[in-house]
Amino acid sequence: MSTLRFQALQEASTRKPVHFEEIDRKSNLFGSNVFNEKAMKQYLTSDALKGVRDAIQHGTKIERKLADYIAMGMKEWALAKGVTHYTHWFQPLTGTTAEKHDAFFEISYDGSDPVEKFGGAQLVQQEPDASSFPNGGIRNTFEARGYTAWDPTSPAFIYGTTLCIPTVFIAYTGEALDNKIPLLRALSAIDEAATEVCKYFDKNVKKVTATLGWEQEYFLIDKALANSRPDLMMTGRTLLGHTSAKGQQLDDHYFGSIPTRALTYMRDLEQECMLLGIPVKTRHNEVAPNQFELAPIFEETNLAVDHNSLLMDVMQRVAERHDFKVLFHEKPFKGVNGSGKHNNWSLATDTGVNLLSPSKTPMSNLQFLTFFINTIKAVNDNETLLRASIATASNDHRLGANEAPPAIMSVFIGAQLTKVLSELESVTTGKLSPEEKTDLKLNVVGKIPDVLLDNTDRNRTSPFAFTGNKFEFRAVGSNSNCSNAMTTLNAIVAKQLIDFKNEVENLIDSKDMKKDDAIFNVLREYIKQSKKILFEGDGYSEAWEKEAAKRGLSNFKTTPEAIKAKVSKQALDLFEKLGIFNHVEAEARYEIELEEYTKKIQIEGRVLGDIARNHVIPTAIRYQNTLIENVKGLKEIFGKDFETIAKEQIVLIKEISGHIEGINSKVLAMTNERKKANQLTDAQKMAEAYCNKVKPYFEDIRTHSDKLELLVDDETWTLTKYRELLFTK
Ligand code: ADP
Ligand code: MG
Repeated sequence: MSTLRFQALQEASTRKPVHFEEIDRKSNLFGSNVFNEKAMKQYLTSDALKGVRDAIQHGTKIERKLADYIAMGMKEWALAKGVTHYTHWFQPLTGTTAEKHDAFFEISYDGSDPVEKFGGAQLVQQEPDASSFPNGGIRNTFEARGYTAWDPTSPAFIYGTTLCIPTVFIAYTGEALDNKIPLLRALSAIDEAATEVCKYFDKNVKKVTATLGWEQEYFLIDKALANSRPDLMMTGRTLLGHTSAKGQQLDDHYFGSIPTRALTYMRDLEQECMLLGIPVKTRHNEVAPNQFELAPIFEETNLAVDHNSLLMDVMQRVAERHDFKVLFHEKPFKGVNGSGKHNNWSLATDTGVNLLSPSKTPMSNLQFLTFFINTIKAVNDNETLLRASIATASNDHRLGANEAPPAIMSVFIGAQLTKVLSELESVTTGKLSPEEKTDLKLNVVGKIPDVLLDNTDRNRTSPFAFTGNKFEFRAVGSNSNCSNAMTTLNAIVAKQLIDFKNEVENLIDSKDMKKDDAIFNVLREYIKQSKKILFEGDGYSEAWEKEAAKRGLSNFKTTPEAIKAKVSKQALDLFEKLGIFNHVEAEARYEIELEEYTKKIQIEGRVLGDIARNHVIPTAIRYQNTLIENVKGLKEIFGKDFETIAKEQIVLIKEISGHIEGINSKVLAMTNERKKANQLTDAQKMAEAYCNKVKPYFEDIRTHSDKLELLVDDETWTLTKYRELLFTK
């Protein structure tokens, strides 16, 4: 009997929910481990408080002296909560989070006078050894120095007994080495561009904030079962495994009652989130068995991105207490739904207006339409860049795999807004007559209902859908850091809004138009120019693939193809003009993503080769030997008649040999392709070789192994099966 699988099953099937009780109401706990406004008021001098507020609201630099005061207050607050260490908490280009803990502890030069020390210098800057983080060749290793610097727009928080200070990560030569710097730059670009455009409608607007509400999907698998699968442990997904007879066909998991163990985990997790100020609100079962979703109330984008990164870390830690393993991979199981991370995105003014929400007056609706149409135009003109922003080896399994959004970018807006756009398209060129303007304001712009009903009946197949008061970018992978997608989306919309303003100004100046006339004229042209990106139909259908190709939309199914857009001239110029990436940074990131892709496929190939040979083949041979013994026995008893009596066994023996041969030859061929790929020196070519030459063997090997899984005696099969992974609650 294969011990690990059956031990794991034994362990998992006898588990009870861990005892958990909430310590207090959510509203009482919320943010109590965050150095927020309330804590700052208590622990900071008024000057220090003002300094932090100015830094948050206006990006004002914090002077060193002030930093000392802030650090002092932060330290007092943290010590009062039993904290012993502090760390700069950052998001290197690995996509995860990084921390290096230092104790709040110093001794004087002669070893006496131990004190709890944490000053402005430690708050503002730390030097982790940057050489071990990906940098895409930005730094030579001999000058492998980088530093982290405090980002006051995201508040410090306590996790366990450590004070975590959100920071950016920069090379000494000035380039960004993390995901946060470009995001902050993109957010500042969209703030500036959108504020300028808002002034056409409301002079009082001084700041525009991009908002983000992510929806995190994940699988929750019993720890013992997950640990019994080497592929899950090493690659985050099952490389082998026959689909379970029951999967999600009955749709009996989605929105069903949450299993007790999972629910207890969620309650514990939610409490941690409350303490950390992560405003989680919604929890429910997802489509696949053992798949769930968690969503917060939306926040300012930088904070929301930090909160999502932190959440992913906290989810895994809390899971340990409940004997679960969280799978964030986009496609951990073949044959059942994968996981995504919808990014709900909008723009909000400091006057409290959601710029993507239709409202009651024609004027504010013209503002809505302006931002709405500019967003569509931005996606239209930069669809390849947006596609590139969500490309990863693991998300490739989802995009275009007939369930999640397709690899083709398109925008869904619903019937009502489609009608509004087509009416705006026939607006007169040049100055509008007073009658036409009145008519437009009353009957077109003014008639947009402030609640867009038809959007409740959403098109779930669209990768980028307008959902009433926000756009929902659905193609983001569940395992991704949202910053890549958010940096790109905010950047392309910022660029678009700058162009819009220039075009409107140009019409006002050169054609002597009124502001409204100019806006209508520019929007009309945008609608005409953005037709190819609008699509209301079934995004999974073959018809759409054909139609999209005709429209000239890209359809990149793999990461190496998709991410080329990141270093196109258009992208490099766009990012550089907005001050988000210079060419060096953009190209370094491109290299890093290629390398990451290659490594991921390389690891999968190795793990697959190992388990196919070490687990599957020996098991198959063992079972085949039993069959051979059986045939021998039958021969002994029945003599020459054995051939008819042992007919099925003999077929099986041959079939098993066929699959063993299949696995062996394919693993060998795959290994050869890997060796060839490893000889390549160009990162793009290597990634392509892994994608097109190595990866195709995965399916072949899997097919043989999965067939064997059905043939071999269940008692001897070593790898925990799909039905066990997916249906153990
Ligand atoms: P669903 O898409 O599952 O039907 P909702 O539409 O209620 O759910 O919201 C999904 C997510 O959208 C939530 O995380 C929510 O916080 C977020 N959201 C709602 N309004 C905005 C907004 N103005 N900006 C960004 N995110 C938003
Ligand atoms: Mg949603």
